[in-house]
Amino acid sequence: MSQMQKQIKLAKRPIGTPVMEDFAFIDAPIGTPSNGEVLVRTIYISVDPYLRGRMQDVKSYIPPFQLNEVITSGVIGQVVDSKSELFAKGDVIIGNLGWQEYSIAKEKEIRKIDPKQAPVTANLSIIGLTGLTAYFGLLDIGQPKAGETVVVSGAAGAVGATVGQIAKIKGTRVVGIAGTDEKCRYLINELGFDAAINYKKEDVPSALEKACPNGIDIYFDNVGGSISDAVFPLLNKYARIPICGAISSYNNVNIDMGPRVQTYLIKTSALMKGFTLGDYSNRFKEGGTALAAWLNEGKLKYEETITEGFDHIIDAFLDLFKGANIGKSLVKVADIKY
Ligand code: NDP
Repeated sequence: MSQMQKQIKLAKRPIGTPVMEDFAFIDAPIGTPSNGEVLVRTIYISVDPYLRGRMQDVKSYIPPFQLNEVITSGVIGQVVDSKSELFAKGDVIIGNLGWQEYSIAKEKEIRKIDPKQAPVTANLSIIGLTGLTAYFGLLDIGQPKAGETVVVSGAAGAVGATVGQIAKIKGTRVVGIAGTDEKCRYLINELGFDAAINYKKEDVPSALEKACPNGIDIYFDNVGGSISDAVFPLLNKYARIPICGAISSYNNVNIDMGPRVQTYLIKTSALMKGFTLGDYSNRFKEGGTALAAWLNEGKLKYEETITEGFDHIIDAFLDLFKGANIGKSLVKVADIKY
């Protein structure tokens, strides 16, 4: 009989904030790879806010998860059996794989990563998708210029913390918005932000006015909702607003209604543009090279919140909506030498 492993499937479509009962922990056979496939032991699993959107049965830029299907996200693993000429036993790989202890992956679904080049987890954070999201959203849509004021929400998270640091590299004044005093101290003391606002304690409109005496040129939006509403009255002429995420509304049951933005955009000739990282897939090499260089030069720092154990994946996912993480949230599933 085949060896067994644990998997996590979507049992129900969450209504509002997801709960444990929306997920099912299943025992399933590990299976064996066929030609052109490898068996991968999962080491790290990335938990990300966008996965919440995939749990709803709605049309989006990425198809929804099906009920009773294993949930997938970014995974780092080690090849433990190979029927591929491209991958050998022991290779460390990254891919979009299942929330399960082992995966059978096709060659084209994974790529090798070099544990000697950077800590492997960096491939899921600073030099991975979250770093690239910050890079392209800020530089391509935000177009920062030295001396401008940049405001970033979700500032102590994986994307936000990178956005703020790249904005500093570009010579701007950076104001972060985050949910605890500890995060605000981290932004200023560790990452070099010029100011930080604790949105759970402070009155955001007046705190923003104080922190941005010259108005706001770029607002990198990770959260939406009332935090973003407070930004619009402070926009400068030709402001740019990359819309990266709207986590404050991901668990809303009703449509999120706020002040209308049109007059603010007209008055300032501002540009507000949504994007997904996939829009930049043909430029990943450029972004990865720049991020790695800044990292090596000590200009970029990154933090990870690592939860231990397969059984705690859902806790780590739900923690994103409580703000329990600083930097990239990952789950360590296996302790493996590589
Ligand atoms: P984070 O590491 O930033 O984790 C989520 C953070 O969001 C939490 O730590 C919490 O911090 C904050 N948060 C949670 N609920 C709320 C709320 N109601 N109001 C305000 N802040 C809240 O996640 P990522 O860096 O991975 O993602 C950040 C955003 O970027 C998300 O909206 C995500 O969907 C989006 N994204 C978009 C991509 C794209 O291609 N467009 C790609 C990757 C991410 P706090 O303590 O400050 O509340």
